Amino acid sequence: MVVKSIKPVLANGVEVTPRPALWADVPDEQWNDWRWQMSHRLNTLDELSQLIRLTDEEKEGLQAQGLFRIDITPYFASLIDPDDPTCPVRRQVIPLGREARAFEAVMADSLAEDAHSPVPGLVHRYPDRVLMLVTTECASYCRYCTRSRLVGDNSANFSSSDHEEQIEYLANTPQVRDVLLSGGDPLTMAPRRLYNLLKALRSIPHIEVVRIGSRVPVFLPQRIDDELCAMLAEFHPLWLNIHVNHPKEITPELSRALDRLSRAGIPLGNQAVLLRGVNDSPEVQLELVHKLVKNRVRPYYLYQCDLVQGAGHFRTPVSVGIEIMEALRGHTSGFAVPTYVIDAPGGGGKIPVAPNYVLSQSPGKVVLRNYEGFITTYYEPTDYDRSERSQLWLEGRALGRDEGLQKGVADLHSGKRLTIKPEGFDALHQRGRAGGITKRGRRNRLDSYDELNPNR
Ligand SMILES: *Cc1c(COP(=O)(O)O)cnc(C)c1O
Repeated sequence: MVVKSIKPVLANGVEVTPRPALWADVPDEQWNDWRWQMSHRLNTLDELSQLIRLTDEEKEGLQAQGLFRIDITPYFASLIDPDDPTCPVRRQVIPLGREARAFEAVMADSLAEDAHSPVPGLVHRYPDRVLMLVTTECASYCRYCTRSRLVGDNSANFSSSDHEEQIEYLANTPQVRDVLLSGGDPLTMAPRRLYNLLKALRSIPHIEVVRIGSRVPVFLPQRIDDELCAMLAEFHPLWLNIHVNHPKEITPELSRALDRLSRAGIPLGNQAVLLRGVNDSPEVQLELVHKLVKNRVRPYYLYQCDLVQGAGHFRTPVSVGIEIMEALRGHTSGFAVPTYVIDAPGGGGKIPVAPNYVLSQSPGKVVLRNYEGFITTYYEPTDYDRSERSQLWLEGRALGRDEGLQKGVADLHSGKRLTIKPEGFDALHQRGRAGGITKRGRRNRLDSYDELNPNR
């Protein structure tokens, strides 16, 4: 079934999303006030059944005990098709009974964020940037939330002293040049608290870039007023990633909020999650990225759905994501193509996944295919010498490149290491007592080519 976009109506000459009968009598002034929207969020079977013809499984979900928190702003609820249980907006925020049923691969903290947390709320997984969880509150709650283990729980919210500890860690960790504020949703914080936090971050000289991840523009566009934009603009360079999954979410209200943010000089990106029944088709993804770039939002990541409790029914095979990437790359503007990533279970960080374009290689030649299936050969130079600076970098001797940093495959390129081994690998393979078939074989055990040829 093709999802119809909502036809805007005119109110005082401005395009707005038509308001359901339930809220017809609410004065515009209240409807457009983010505080009214926050305090009138829907979360019970009774409230939602006044708006939507709920299915039995939705009723089951709304009555189940112990599910992830439910809250939907009236504005976002007004985008729901009351008669279509497959409505992509509806599926993102109304729970189903099956949320309570676990699936085989489910993990408690699937990204191992807790293990990478030096102080409460900080996740320092990458060398030069950190994820800073500043609140557990959101404007509405996504049913597939990757952080449902902490998000939505008021009693687990971060305190001012947590924030102070986070700031102190950052001030004492000079390799961090990029701080990503997330949660929960930083833009649900009291304006003064957010201001103080940004100010404290900006007082740390080595922090070059501050980023905010927020779904407030989507759930609560009323919050993106001139005052907030002016406040954010005090802390440039400040980047913002929003979270839109389906073109139906891009309303005149969201467009105006994005325009305000853009005009405040904030570069905008979008992080979408690949969700079964919501956006798992190339057609929907193409329409989504086109609508995003029309609003000056660059599609940044498309996430494979994480292995979290309650999200099993949203998962797709990875091949569905690869098909989508195949349909985007080359077929539309390069800047409209997000990077499809799997956030590694167990905590490896984001791993990009894409169709293969390198088909084959021989000395001096690379065989490639394009998005149409056209196959070509690129002839490589035969006289290439690595520049001195590039050599220094590879050897880990470049200026400012800390020996202790995570280098990964670069050490294989430089010849510094020959292999990267899983834990316990050597012990497992130390089966022969002599360590080789011949005594010489034992000596030939190598850890890098440099040992083989020290003069290289
Ligand atoms: C996603 C993420 C970041 C930011 O990653 P980018 O690829 O730079 O956007 C940083 N830290 C953690 C823990 C993350 O999950």
